[in-house]
Amino acid sequence: MQQSKIWLSSPHMGGTEQKYVQEAFDTNWIAPLGPNVNGFEKDLENYVKENSKVACLTSGTSAIHLALVMAGVTHGDDVLCQSFTFSASANPIAYQGANPVFVDSEKDTWNLCPVYLEQAIEAGISKGKKPKAIIVVHLYGMPAKIDAVAAIAKKYEIVLIEDAAEALGSTYKGQKCGTFGDFGILSFNGNKIITTSGGGALVCRNEETKNKAVFLATQARDTAVHYQHSEIGYNYRMSNIVAGIGRGQMEVLDAHIGFRRDMHHFYQELFKEFVGVTVFTEPAKEYHSNHWLSCIVIDEEKAGFTSQALRLQLEKDNIESRPLWKPMHLQPVFKDCAYYGAAVAEALFEKGVCLPSGSNLTTSDRDRIAKSIKKLL
Ligand SMILES: *Cc1c(COP(=O)(O)O)cnc(C)c1O
Repeated sequence: MQQSKIWLSSPHMGGTEQKYVQEAFDTNWIAPLGPNVNGFEKDLENYVKENSKVACLTSGTSAIHLALVMAGVTHGDDVLCQSFTFSASANPIAYQGANPVFVDSEKDTWNLCPVYLEQAIEAGISKGKKPKAIIVVHLYGMPAKIDAVAAIAKKYEIVLIEDAAEALGSTYKGQKCGTFGDFGILSFNGNKIITTSGGGALVCRNEETKNKAVFLATQARDTAVHYQHSEIGYNYRMSNIVAGIGRGQMEVLDAHIGFRRDMHHFYQELFKEFVGVTVFTEPAKEYHSNHWLSCIVIDEEKAGFTSQALRLQLEKDNIESRPLWKPMHLQPVFKDCAYYGAAVAEALFEKGVCLPSGSNLTTSDRDRIAKSIKKLL
């Protein structure tokens, strides 16, 4: 008999979510505004701190899109973007008719390489075209070298957008990811560290910027009794039902991070027996990852098996795993875009695997995972 599937990262409800959803029904706040939206925003502001103002939206993707709109990115502009990421980081650049310019990762955090970033900026300037924005990602929950990246953004006066979709709760030098840039974005999609089924948020540096984001997210209505518009608007505001799930999830966020970090320790122990397998971990004590997904890199020569072999073994035992993100500069849809870097992201894609990391995995799930992986020894 086939055992039940072990997922990479599945929704994990805390228990109080339905109470907030019920309140929305009881008070007939079935709309993309209401007490849950306001409450969820307050919860997030208190959580990420640094005097952030948060606008809850329909998705992380729409948050990136609004950040680009507010950064003034328009047709023909260049936007620098980490290549090693999920396509949602880059797609909104195309929505604006702008050109993504992809930049490689460094080896310590797997995120945006400050050296290639500066090279890309200098190349743009020398052609008379300074990039309009930088999108840096905290991939798999690992904080990027955000000090260095932010210093470059400041030096060249370029808007910095931090994609913290996978990094809610991660910190660099004690400061929450998503609060370093001009804009930060969060995601509450089904597989993220907390989920509202679908949803996202834009982390802003002040109230004025947040108000502008909410204005654009609600069809950009001018102050007038009739419907009047002077700008193009969007329908990107979060629903009060969805926000109710978010309020419940906030109550278990830190516990979920604890579980995910514990899964990471589980893999560190498990792979001690193996040669040629590296568990991706924080490069220094300044970095604190939520370990959204635990990842490993396999040196085929030393390990005696490939990332593909490991994945197929797990699949046979009904356990989900996945290759690391395929870099954007290697994606057919972005094949004509500029790229600055070497082959760091490319090598990670070839050798890496994401392993089951959910906060709801049980001891018996761990035993099954360990048993399956050890078949490769
Ligand atoms: C999930 C994700 C997004 C997009 O968030 P959605 O809420 O799914 O639109 C953006 N960037 C990264 C790195 C992600 O993992």
